[in-house]
Amino acid sequence: MKVYIPEEVGFCFGVKEAIKKVERELKKGGEVFCLGDLVHNPLVMNELCEKGLKVVSSLSEVKKCGTLITRAHGVEQSILEKGKEKGLKIVETTCPYVLRAHKIIRKLICESYHVVIVGSAEHPEIKAILSDIPFCKVSVINSSERIREVSEEKKIGIVAQTTESLDNFENIVKNLIEKRLKSGFEIRVFNTVCSVVIKRQKEAKELAEKVDAVIVVGGNKSSNTRKLVEICKKEGKKVYFIEREEELEFEKIKKLSSVGIIGGTSTPEKIIRNLERKINKN
Ligand code: SF4
Repeated sequence: MKVYIPEEVGFCFGVKEAIKKVERELKKGGEVFCLGDLVHNPLVMNELCEKGLKVVSSLSEVKKCGTLITRAHGVEQSILEKGKEKGLKIVETTCPYVLRAHKIIRKLICESYHVVIVGSAEHPEIKAILSDIPFCKVSVINSSERIREVSEEKKIGIVAQTTESLDNFENIVKNLIEKRLKSGFEIRVFNTVCSVVIKRQKEAKELAEKVDAVIVVGGNKSSNTRKLVEICKKEGKKVYFIEREEELEFEKIKKLSSVGIIGGTSTPEKIIRNLERKINKN
C-alpha cells in the first residue's frame, strides 16, 4: 500500500511557541496553571500535565500564587484581569495570527463598522474576542443561511476565525456581498484565516483527491482538524478521524492501495510517522 503524507505535518509555530513557554515556566519551579486546554490535543496536554502543568476550569480553583498561562487561541479579557487581581503572573501564549484578528476587529469597531465573524461562537478564540467588545457590534455566523441575522448597518467588516475553512469563508463573503452591496452597503473583507491552516486545508484536498482513504489525526475538539475531516469527506473519500495511533483499525485499510495521513496543527509529528511505519509493516 502506498502511504502519502504532506510536506508539512506536526505543530504549527503558534503551538510550538505556546508549548515552549509553558515548559520554560515549569522549569522555573512554582505552580503553572492553564485555564482549559492550552491546545486542543489530549496527548500534548497529558505530556504537559505530567511535567507539572495544572489545567483548571475556573480561576476559583487556583488557591495559591503562581503563573497563569493563556491559551494559544486566546483567553477572555475579564479572566486575565481577575488573574492579575489574584496576584498571578500572566504568561501570554496567544498566537500572533489570533492577535492580528483581534486588532483588525477592534479597528473596524473604532471606525463604526458592524463586524461579521465567520466562525463558531462556541470556540474559545471567538469567546475571547467577544469578551473584549460590545456584543451589538458583532455577528458570528458559520453559514450563508445565517446572513439574515447580520445587522442592517451600512458599514460591514468581515473577518474569519483563524481556523475557519477558507472555502466556507469565501462562500459567506460572496453571499454577503451579493445580498448587501446592491443596497448601498460598504463592505470590507479581511482574510484572517491562519496561513498554516490554509496550507493544511489545501494539502488535505490534494491528498484526498489522489488516495483511496485519508487518516486525519488530531484532537476531537480541535477546530482546524475537524475542518480537515470535512474537506476530505467533501472529496468523497473514506475518512478515519483518530486522536491516537492505537485507534486505527488496520483491518479496515489493509485492502486499499493508497492512504493519506494528515494532522491538525496541534498534532505531534511523531504520531503521523509512527502510523506510517505501522502501515508499511502491516
Ligand atoms: S493554527 Fe495558526 S493561528 Fe492557531 S496557533 Fe497555529 S499558527 Fe497560530
